Amino acid sequence: MSGRLVLVGTPIGNLGDLSPRAIELLGSCDAIACEDTRRTGRLLQLVGVEKRPLITVNDHTEYDQRGPLLDRVSAGETIVLVSDAGMPGISDPGERLVAAAAERGLPIEVVPGPTAMTSALVLSGLPGARFCFEGFLPRKGKERTERLAAVAGEYRTSVLYEAPHRLVRTLEDLRAACGGTRRVALARELTKMHEEVFRGSLDEALVWGADHEIGEFVVVLEGAEPAADATDEQLVEALKAELAEGRSGRDAVDAVADSFGAARRRVYQLMLSIN
Ligand code: SAM
Repeated sequence: MSGRLVLVGTPIGNLGDLSPRAIELLGSCDAIACEDTRRTGRLLQLVGVEKRPLITVNDHTEYDQRGPLLDRVSAGETIVLVSDAGMPGISDPGERLVAAAAERGLPIEVVPGPTAMTSALVLSGLPGARFCFEGFLPRKGKERTERLAAVAGEYRTSVLYEAPHRLVRTLEDLRAACGGTRRVALARELTKMHEEVFRGSLDEALVWGADHEIGEFVVVLEGAEPAADATDEQLVEALKAELAEGRSGRDAVDAVADSFGAARRRVYQLMLSIN
């Protein structure tokens, strides 16, 4: 007999966004794996769901919890996975648990819910037909510089998460990498009382951001002009940045060709010159 692992989206600020299906599952599952038992306990209380056993699954415990949790799923239990807010696995724990469950061939389901990423994208007014989710930029050093260069060269809209007190610093770095005229939207306190969206250039965003560095933010950045005429040096730099991220040669070629709108064959030849 096999149970199931169910990923459940929870509100990013407005309790009314918790779906009826999510409430039903939270109240009927055998246990809830969550980042913070107090926070999830409070959510259950607020929606009037009887308390279920709560198990902490955060960045520190997810690896060790995979075995015991999935043993319970194998034994027929329904285990729900939530994060503090939004969709589990989106800049939150969950990915490793899902990968392990998939490896064991266990049933995995999702009850979709709010996520700041797509909410900000659709509010931004920037092209959303194709976009890149960057999550949080690396905090410092070479990794950050390389990621900023990759984001600056990306021709699709990029969506970034940032901690409130780091917003201005990130906007400064984005301006240095992309130039002050690149368009950006800053989606602040989504679904909450003080929800607002700034739309303008990076130059203007820095002025606005300096006065609004409170609350939660998503940064939505306009893509670069498709660079059909990207130089070999730019493409090689971008390939190196992808390889430094741990991508395989083939994935790096695909990502750079996509990102610059360059011919795959040309990027492949440049990759050969790196090796
Ligand atoms: N799992 C979440 C999701 O699906 O959106 C994301 C969790 S991540 C740890 C937290 C980041 O998401 C914040 O630093 C912020 O960038 C963004 N975020 C979450 N809630 C938000 C909100 N209500 N308004 C704006 N940004 C939000």
